[in-house]
Parts: sequence; structure tokens; C-alpha cells
Amino acid sequence: MQTVTAFPDLRAARAQLLEPVGLVPTMGYLHEGHLSLVRRARTECASVVASIFVNPTQFGPGEDLAAYPRDLPSDQRLLESEGVDLVWTPTPEVMYPEGFQTWVTVEEVTQPLEGARRPGHFRGVTTIVAKLFNGVLPQRAYFGQKDAQQARVIQQMTRDLNFPIQIVVCPIVREADGLAMSSRNTYLDPDERRAATVLHHALTQAQAAFDSGERDANVLRAIVTRIVGEEPLAALQYVSCAHPETLEELETIAGDRALLSMAVYVGKTRKTRLIDNVVLDSDAQGL
Ligand code: AMP
Repeated sequence: MQTVTAFPDLRAARAQLLEPVGLVPTMGYLHEGHLSLVRRARTECASVVASIFVNPTQFGPGEDLAAYPRDLPSDQRLLESEGVDLVWTPTPEVMYPEGFQTWVTVEEVTQPLEGARRPGHFRGVTTIVAKLFNGVLPQRAYFGQKDAQQARVIQQMTRDLNFPIQIVVCPIVREADGLAMSSRNTYLDPDERRAATVLHHALTQAQAAFDSGERDANVLRAIVTRIVGEEPLAALQYVSCAHPETLEELETIAGDRALLSMAVYVGKTRKTRLIDNVVLDSDAQGL
């Protein structure tokens, strides 16, 4: 497994790879969620490239850019053991050299949910993913359903800008107690870690209501609000029951599917922001 940082080294290494090439973009501090993407890519592609870059432009002022956990040696060991061919670890200077002034923005689907609470976040995401695509030139790119809106935004960008890349969205990987795996879980102390299970618990209860025939989106959102409200260490930032493609809020789930998503602050003094979601699907079972 080779690791490269600069663009010329990336280009040289990329030229040696067998196609199709699969790209797994990450911010590092890898866990089983990331590795599930790598494994899927490994089964579907002749070569697998993983990128590790904590992208400063997708963090807002007051967010956790400086505190974001990093452990490159451990990440490299994990990627090597999964049979990754090439790791790209650009620096901020490689990605945003002096004089950088071009941004990619996706309009409608970036407006609600995360976009409404994290101004500028998706502009940073789409710009960096476009640069990752142009650097690696993959045939396929792998993203997690954990960041459901991000996956939707990347699909839109890929279609609108005609990137010849297939976007593959992989299921959420969870801890044994249901907490969605996230590099940010490392911020949680033991009490907060226990409290963080409320996200999955709330989604599970809403899913159960949906499975019993509930189609009123207000009722499903209210279930999530009530359950999170019962956890003293948790504060709900938003709950959404939206159309899975347009991401517009629903009154009633008239079609087959809806995206039920949420952001919750967990903690006593230092608050960790966690997100989770489930696709409510009349044809599917459970989380
Ligand atoms: P990140 O390093 O948080 O930017 O995540 C890199 C990729 O891994 C994104 O496409 C995420 O959606 C995906 N990912 C993160 N956590 C999980 C998880 N628990 N299950 C599945 N995919 C995940």
C-alpha cells in the first residue's frame, strides 16, 4: 500500500492502478463504518483508493476542526489490512494553495437539515469532493448513509457536473447498543456515551410506529422529540421527516419512503453534536 500527499505523486500512483478504481473519502480516525465502505469497494473494484483529509472549509467557526481526532498511523494499518492500494493524505496547502478561489455549490438539497444549521458546510464538502474526484478519477465512490444529506448532495453534484462516477451509498454501521459509529463518539465520556443511545432509541420507536401504519410525519417527529426530551444529557437540535430525494419536510408520508433524520447535542459542559437517521420504507424491515 502506497501513501501519497502531493498531486504529482497522486497522479503517478493513480496511473499504475487497475480499473475500475473505487474511492473512499474520509476524514480519518477510522472505525468499522469507514471500513464497511472500504470492504464494499474492495469487492466491487480492481483498485481501492482511500483519502484522509480533515477538510477545514466544511467546518464552521466554533465547530470542532482543531479538536477533530486524528491518528494516521492507526488509519494506515487498518487500510493496509483491508487491502487498500493507495492512500491519499493531502494537506490543507495541497488542497487550498495560495490564491484558491473556486467553489462548487449545490443549491436546493443543501438548504434544509444540516445545511440550515451549518452554513457553508456543504460548499466545503462539494468543493473538496469535486477535487478528490478530479485527483483520483475513480469509476466509483463510496459514501455512508450515516451522512444521508451529504450522500444526496454528492449524487446531485455528480449528476449536474457529469462526473463519470457511480455513487454507492452504504448502510449505517452501529455499535452493539445501536449508536451509529462516528469519529466524534470519542468526545463522549461514559455518561454521555450511555445517553447517546437515545438517538437510535428514538429512531427505533418512530420506525415501529411507521411499521404499524403511522404515516403522519408530525406524529413521527413528535415521537423522536418526546424520547430525546426524556434524556437529561441530550438536547434535540432538529428532527426531520422529509422526502428522501428533495429533502423537503413532509406532512404525510404518501409515497413509499421518507428520511427521518436528527441532530442532537449530547453532554454536560462540552456538547457533542451527533446525527443519525433511518429511511422509513414500506418495503423494508427495521434499521
Ligand atoms: P467521515 O470520516 O466522518 O467524513 O466519514 C467518511 C465516510 O464514512 C462518509 O461517507 C460517512 O458517511 C461514512 N461513515 C461514517 N460513519 C459511518 C457509519 N457509522 N456507517 C457507515 N458509514 C459511515
